[in-house]
Amino acid sequence: MKHVNLLILDDKEENIISLSALLSEVEHINIISSTDPNEALKICWKNDIAIALVDVQMPEINGFEFVSLLKSNPKTNHVMAIMVTAISKEDRYLLKGLESGAVDYLYKPLNPEITVAKVTSFVQQIHIQEEIKQKNIALEESQRQLILAKEEAEEARRSKESFLANMSHEIRTPINGIVGIIHILRNTQLNDEQRDWINRLDSASNSLLLIINDILDISKIDSGMMKIEYENFSIHKKLMDINNFFKIKALDKSLAFETDIDPQLPEYIRSSPIRIQQIINNFISNALKFTEEGKITLKASVVEQVDSQYTIKFTVTDTGIGIKPEAIEKIFLAFEQGDDGITKKYGGTGLGLAIVKRLADLLHGKIEAKSTYGKGSEFSFQATFEKVDDFRQEETLDTKAISSLHKFNNVRILVAEDNELNSFMLVHILKSWGCEVDVAKNGRIAIEHVNEHDYDLIMMDTHMPVMSGFEAIQEIKTHPNPKKAYTPIITISASVLQHEQAAAYEAGADSVIGKPFDPIDLYQKIDKLISKRG
Ligand code: ADP
Repeated sequence: MKHVNLLILDDKEENIISLSALLSEVEHINIISSTDPNEALKICWKNDIAIALVDVQMPEINGFEFVSLLKSNPKTNHVMAIMVTAISKEDRYLLKGLESGAVDYLYKPLNPEITVAKVTSFVQQIHIQEEIKQKNIALEESQRQLILAKEEAEEARRSKESFLANMSHEIRTPINGIVGIIHILRNTQLNDEQRDWINRLDSASNSLLLIINDILDISKIDSGMMKIEYENFSIHKKLMDINNFFKIKALDKSLAFETDIDPQLPEYIRSSPIRIQQIINNFISNALKFTEEGKITLKASVVEQVDSQYTIKFTVTDTGIGIKPEAIEKIFLAFEQGDDGITKKYGGTGLGLAIVKRLADLLHGKIEAKSTYGKGSEFSFQATFEKVDDFRQEETLDTKAISSLHKFNNVRILVAEDNELNSFMLVHILKSWGCEVDVAKNGRIAIEHVNEHDYDLIMMDTHMPVMSGFEAIQEIKTHPNPKKAYTPIITISASVLQHEQAAAYEAGADSVIGKPFDPIDLYQKIDKLISKRG
């Protein structure tokens, strides 16, 4: 324990000697003494004095004045002063001492036991105070560290976000080009061999896109940037779409595929169809991947119904390789696979179920996995949804009907896109729909084009050199010629970030299309915007 400095101030040397002798049995103190108040003040300023035993009756400066001086100086105002007095115990003296800042009194002749007990108790108090002070310092330090760590985490989140935005743009842009060219090629005369190559190219670019989407999804969810968009939709139609898609895939592997829908299942619910489909697709893709023979079943059952709240369980069962009991816990962790040999044999990143688990959490649902090694597995997702009545879904165009899309008549479009492959592909697609197309390599050139010609629509990439898409949109939307200012603009955004898409709308875009985009989706967007023309 740290020693406490104690000052004895008394004009009589013999009093100092006797008091020092008395206090010799008090532990953890260093006694410093003085007969002169002025010297004592200096001692207090220079040394870390914690307790001062001050004689009241002294010539020149009396004890009360001395304590007042101590208390008026910030360097010494913490000193605990105990008045040592022989004068009356009357209240007015007590008060005077306390008013000057003293904490206690000792009366002459000094009672040894009381003196030792009082000083000991003050020494203990000082030790406790010191401990509290140290703890406060430690607390302040840890608070400072916490703030620092929070700032660092915030900084890391920001750089992760911008890394995400950049990476998604950089990777998706070339894939967009590849997917588009595949689309164009598919619509040309091909022999069987060439068609096979195109199919392989298609499947390779799709897998690449899936992996990138998975990585982006998990980063988005982990940095809290995944927003669930709720809408009313037909759960029956969604399940049938999934059924139709996977039935063909199962057939390719000579597997049976069945969908079993509970008659109690409501027709329409409110949730996120994309995320529900993502979860179920993931289960079925895994079931297909890990099953060599037998059957895969997708089942949708109502577990509970309270008024319009339906608890629905989607279960995918397979007769595949199964999962060892010790592995079942870790398959929901990112980059984890059930078996080390799995990657070699079946490929995969181990991200699928980790994403599914996080999506289920975002939808306030739960995921369950049961499996018998060597026999098969069962994965389920259960959540509560609100049933909606009398809801009519917007009719969407069938993807297969792309070649039968009617041509646009007398439509001039400006494509502002710096990536050559993308603009080549976009121009080709737009021309195949009968549009007249001009190309600008950056926002500045786009504005020059807008000044020279009247366009029915502008397609604007977000990231471009010289002048970004956002800046160009803002300039067009504030064009002095109202006709030009009202030109509909579709932003081509490779970003998966919600706020970047929101920024496009804020800049004035009429619609946003992702990269890579579905040509049908683009067609519909153009059709909708153009039909609004006066
Ligand atoms: P990936 O399939 O890309 O490796 P997932 O996260 O989708 O990643 O799956 C993680 C692991 O869980 C797989 O590697 C596999 O070991 C196991 N798994 C998932 N679904 C099944 C299934 N239906 N049958 C057997 N094993 C499965």
